[in-house]
Amino acid sequence: MDEPRCIICGKEKDGLEIKDDNVIKFIRLFNRKVLKKQNHYKLVVCKECYINYKKARNKFVRRQITYIALGVIFAAMIFISSAGNPISLLAGAGIIIFLYLLSLLSYMPELKINDKEKIRVNKENTQQNKHLRKQQGRKK
Ligand SMILES: [Zn+2]
Repeated sequence: MDEPRCIICGKEKDGLEIKDDNVIKFIRLFNRKVLKKQNHYKLVVCKECYINYKKARNKFVRRQITYIALGVIFAAMIFISSAGNPISLLAGAGIIIFLYLLSLLSYMPELKINDKEKIRVNKENTQQNKHLRKQQGRKK
């Protein structure tokens, strides 16, 4: 079995597994073939890091949507200003791909768990937050 490792704090501990999507597969392949790294990790988000992960994930999703929308707008503008020249479509596609790759700089993968489990984790976190707030309230 692969060692679980938190993608946020980097500690080797158990947590919610992340989805093995194409970006993760590519990074694994790159590590193996180019960097010759042999150690395999099961990538997870530990309980303590879940709130930070959620923030980073939402930020990434928003950024990716913005970048792709910008790419589409640019592509449309080039197409219109070139009076419908088909080559401008290639340039437009290039811009969209470039912006997509740029958005991956802040890449945050999706979790593997289904919605039912997500709800359970969210509930646990709100309970934890309430508890924390109570503690903070006491300190003041
Ligand atoms: Zn962690």
